[in-house]
Amino acid sequence: MSSERLQAPRGTYDVLPEDDEARGVVEAAARSILGGAGYRRIETPVFEHTELFARGVGQSTDIVQKEMYTFDDAGGRSLTLRPEGTAPIMRSYLEHGMHKLAQPVKLWYLGPFFRQEKPQAGRYRQFWQVGAEAIGSDDPAVDAELILLLHALVFELGVREVRLRLGSLGTPATREAYRDKLVAHLRANEDRLSEEVRGRIDLNPMRAFDADHPGTREVMQSAPLLLDELAPEDAEHFAEVRARLDAAGVEYEIDPTLVRGLDYYTRTLFEFTSDALGAQSGVGGGGRYDGLAEQVGGPHVPGCGWAAGIERLLLAADERRAPVEAVDLYVAGTGVEAFALAAEARRAGLAVQLELAGRSRKGMLKQADRIGARYVAILDEEGTQLKDMETGEQERLAPDAVVAHVIRGRHLA
Ligand code: AMP
Repeated sequence: MSSERLQAPRGTYDVLPEDDEARGVVEAAARSILGGAGYRRIETPVFEHTELFARGVGQSTDIVQKEMYTFDDAGGRSLTLRPEGTAPIMRSYLEHGMHKLAQPVKLWYLGPFFRQEKPQAGRYRQFWQVGAEAIGSDDPAVDAELILLLHALVFELGVREVRLRLGSLGTPATREAYRDKLVAHLRANEDRLSEEVRGRIDLNPMRAFDADHPGTREVMQSAPLLLDELAPEDAEHFAEVRARLDAAGVEYEIDPTLVRGLDYYTRTLFEFTSDALGAQSGVGGGGRYDGLAEQVGGPHVPGCGWAAGIERLLLAADERRAPVEAVDLYVAGTGVEAFALAAEARRAGLAVQLELAGRSRKGMLKQADRIGARYVAILDEEGTQLKDMETGEQERLAPDAVVAHVIRGRHLA
């Protein structure tokens, strides 16, 4: 048998105890901002029927074509580790008859997602997202409020050099007509395009907007824009979203070429980026998905939402040390009495750490200092001494008086 030391799969990482605090800060901020706006937490399973994503996210997307972790279970059913959170939440909304609740149903989530992408800085195969969805209303106020909430989260966490880009996709029919127009424009100017763009005209004409190639850029300057082709009611919806963001003082750039890798979007589309990040600059984004419920077999239900990457939020945020957990009492002893004292103190609601490494008296005091303990109980043959680490005072107490003393000291602090 090989004794090679095994490592975590490529593109995954361990959340070590020292990383947990910063992630806790993200979770607490999300809970406070989203909870405060009436969003309630939901968690869906980590795997779903493959068909949910094939139909929901879209057969032609990169995600479905090449990035999903798909497997057959013992019963021969095809399952997929969730690559995104919106299709599962729409499934859950439909499955649990949430249309009977007051609309829109406002939900948030935080958990791991899986995509078989090429790993690089800020891009993983298991990554974490925090997201919010408002299902059951097509009011432009829903879109604007969701953008405002992600804006609040990004600023609360101190994400640096943030930009918000905003666009609108209209309906799938508008998009299809526009696509034909764009393809015709590219075909008419084919000889001036880069080889790469030329080879992808039919596959992904929108990509041409991102090209650096001078000839391609020239051609794109006169290309038709989707925003100019929107149906009047979609253009009006977009104007209403913008008016609300303006009223709330949110700065944004209109980006007529904004695209995202999921097929379900209609109308509003947005993305927060951070210039403090490298190539993977997307911090979070989302949009409206009024056709998604029907795509996964439900009735027409409008919805809007976003997701932000926890790793990217942390990479782009200012370094901030989360507060260290307070330790009320460090029990410096290894015997049964020490164990009983720690148990009693915890029952009384104190944060207690117990000596577990068999250190010397000096070593124990050093450890208590390192973890910032307020009191140390030193157990010896004669009983218990309690040391106040703030004042340095030390007194001998009856064993049953220690907990009361620490509680009193904590209230005085
Ligand atoms: P998406 O679901 O593609 O709209 O992505 C939303 C956000 O999730 C992005 O803006 C990123 O912050 C994050 N994200 C997406 N894919 C990855 C990945 N492979 N690794 C890390 N973060 C990701």
